[in-house]
Amino acid sequence: MTASSSRRSTSTNSSGVATEAFDQGSIEVRAAGRKGLGVFACRYFAEGSLILRFSGRPVGRADLPELTEWEREHLGEIDIGLYQVLPEPRCYVNHACSPNAVSTRDTLYAVREIRASEEISIDYRLNAYDDGDVWEMSCDCGAPDRPHTVVGDFFSMSAEQQARNVGVAPPFIQRLYRQRRGLD
Ligand SMILES: [Zn+2]
Repeated sequence: MTASSSRRSTSTNSSGVATEAFDQGSIEVRAAGRKGLGVFACRYFAEGSLILRFSGRPVGRADLPELTEWEREHLGEIDIGLYQVLPEPRCYVNHACSPNAVSTRDTLYAVREIRASEEISIDYRLNAYDDGDVWEMSCDCGAPDRPHTVVGDFFSMSAEQQARNVGVAPPFIQRLYRQRRGLD
């Protein structure tokens, strides 16, 4: 258990965004077409509100060969060479290039209003870093219209997208961003 995931927080999450209490039954996992499973809202979420709080098992790079295939497919990056096995239902949140939610290492929260029955999506690039084993995937999220390739690296986004998203990226990405921009 990490310090951040064990800390009780009722008013703000780790990004300092105002939150509401997560209640059971407010989201559900169900089929999301070609993407397999997805996470859907069962009620309205206001912009900035908490959708889910979770705690994944941290694993280092040396631990990766010991993981099951399912665990390897559901990893989230925490830092360079440090990952977490994303628990259900967080692991079923699909990617969109223009998402309605953001995930920190232990919370999922809305970045715009989300209606009941809408699929909850996050941009996988926000917490992804090319450490020599970068992933690519075909994305059919509708933004832009045509299917397109998404590269699993925050720095694969345009400079404008990076500037717009760095504030909600994890601390290690923010650190790398400042270094690359010569701000540190
Ligand atoms: Zn896309």
